[in-house]
Amino acid sequence: MSARVEQLEFQAEARQLLELLVHSVYSDKDSFLRELISNASDALDKLRLETMRNKDLTADTSDLHIDIEVAHAPRTLTVRDNGIGMTHDEVVDLIGTLAKSGTAQLRQQLREAKNSAASEELIGQFGVGFYSTFMVADRVELLTRKAGESGATRWVSSGDGTYTIESVDDAPQGTTVTLHLKPEDVEDQLHDYTAQWKIRELVKKYSDFIAWPIRMQVEQRTPATEDGGADNVSVETQTLNSMKALWAKPKDEVSEQEYHEFYKHIAHAWDDPLTVISMKGEGTFEYQALLFIPSHAPFDLFTRDAGTGVQLYIRRVFVMGDCDELMPRYLRFVKGVVDAQGMSLNVSREILQQDRQVTAIRRRLTKKILSTIADLQSGKPEDYSTFWTQFGAVLKEGLMSDPDNQDTLLRVSSFSSTQSDDELTTLAEYVERMKDGQEQIFYATGPSRDQLLKSPHLEAFRAKGYEVLLLTDPVDEIWVGSVPEFDGKPLQSVAKGEVDLDSDADRADHEAEREAEQQEFADLLAWLTETLGDHVSEVRLSHRLTESPACLITPSFGITPALARMYRASGQVIPTGKRILELNPKHSLVTGLREAHAAEADVPEANMHRLAETAELLYGTALLAEGEVPEDPAKFAGLLADRLARTV
Ligand code: ADP
Ligand code: MG
Repeated sequence: MSARVEQLEFQAEARQLLELLVHSVYSDKDSFLRELISNASDALDKLRLETMRNKDLTADTSDLHIDIEVAHAPRTLTVRDNGIGMTHDEVVDLIGTLAKSGTAQLRQQLREAKNSAASEELIGQFGVGFYSTFMVADRVELLTRKAGESGATRWVSSGDGTYTIESVDDAPQGTTVTLHLKPEDVEDQLHDYTAQWKIRELVKKYSDFIAWPIRMQVEQRTPATEDGGADNVSVETQTLNSMKALWAKPKDEVSEQEYHEFYKHIAHAWDDPLTVISMKGEGTFEYQALLFIPSHAPFDLFTRDAGTGVQLYIRRVFVMGDCDELMPRYLRFVKGVVDAQGMSLNVSREILQQDRQVTAIRRRLTKKILSTIADLQSGKPEDYSTFWTQFGAVLKEGLMSDPDNQDTLLRVSSFSSTQSDDELTTLAEYVERMKDGQEQIFYATGPSRDQLLKSPHLEAFRAKGYEVLLLTDPVDEIWVGSVPEFDGKPLQSVAKGEVDLDSDADRADHEAEREAEQQEFADLLAWLTETLGDHVSEVRLSHRLTESPACLITPSFGITPALARMYRASGQVIPTGKRILELNPKHSLVTGLREAHAAEADVPEANMHRLAETAELLYGTALLAEGEVPEDPAKFAGLLADRLARTV
């Protein structure tokens, strides 16, 4: 086969990232080796899985392992695996592009990062996988042959924006990565990656738990014998890692650092996890689990296909990544490993979905994770707060999808409220602060805290000193509908149904006044209900407004406009339910309208037309005040401009 060398460009994002790495002062350069070993280990796992699934695959699986080789001159470091390998196109796809989700955000943030410390932190948060090799090498060569195929591919790059790729006739099965290391830094002997002791140290530190042997040819020097002569040098192959599955070891035999390195391997992460959860199930369904709550949310947490991060092992053998069956969707941020004893090695997703053991394990893991979160909440407030900022919005999905754990989820959740500008509150704390006679937990939903604080719906609550929860995550619109109460206290939206904040004593005092108002406004309300009939189901007097003239209310069992929008965005057909327009009988616009209406009741059409326009304007401003847009913005703007023109 004639070797044709093609020169290709890295995809733009990859190019920028490389640029950064080549000049990086990233302090943790050692991590490149962890990344190479992690990739090699994944490739071996994949090959074993593939041979289990595909009996026709002709691949050699007799001695799956990883080899490391170093040379002082020329200064090279080689990591070789005999795993799954890559085809020509896979090399272009997987190595030539940054396939990782969230790369666009990474690029954006790198651009915005003002200094090198900030970009380093980003690298640490994102992880740069294979590209990390360019922190230590000025040329990287990758030779790979996909298991079962005969042709191989050589890829070479200096990290300068382009790479070459060529097809070659033959290569060992799997992947060999050779780093041509940057010139020796005599000042920095600690980072000499051609030193065997250094490699040994790094493997121990970062990759000891890797399930495949990591081997190196080691020179053994035995001193010369009494009668003179040179030392004896022999070469032997050593396995550098213990290969012990961390999850199988007793907790007190594993250091925090070991747990963290393991997390980085399985989660493809570069930063430390927030917490480590190690657990064991005995009895009918025996299993071991080692789970991690990360300290940063991935960028694709909310995209639909974001898989869960839990790997399934069966009796120490990796059988499946992203095992969704082991973790409810709302805990998809949890990473880790579950090793089950009593399952068949060639288990399929279809079987898993119906497996009683899997269901039982999922239930146990869920409970344990929730209790860990509760422990953070009570014992490590800072970690809890990090957790909540990163994952709170996902966790709340469980309020709808996991009724069995709803109460626990409510207890570990926290919310913004009118009580404090910067601190969140739990429901238990809210209940503790409830006013005498207050029977409901009040909440408002909307796009932002600021907007909610200015909403007319909140006026009476503020005036009377009632605390209101301010719920601003999209998911809040949905779960509030499936949580009837907390601690026996019903949840009540400030924008739904009837609100009467008067105490019994006040109510008696106000009754006569209200009745009089009701009569006074009866004609106007009837006329408005008819005039605005296309927009609202009813116009009535309000007891929740103190400053604004009007606001719109969703009927007790109706769905809010925001929720309707979300359903529509997800393709569901939702009828437009009409809302109720509530008027503030004390506002001068409303009293003025009443007087004008009473005066005009019997006179010509044209004047009623003008009043109808005022009604439209009143309705439109109520929409604006809650952040909605009038159905016909141009018409509303026209009416308003016309009216203003007469008053300037
Ligand atoms: P990640 O491991 O997080 O996916 P990397 O940058 O480390 O990101 O690797 C990119 C991809 O390249 C891997 O997902 C894998 O598909 C492929 N790859 C890297 N190294 C190897 C290898 N030794 N054998 C087979 N495939 C590899
Ligand atoms: Mg990797």
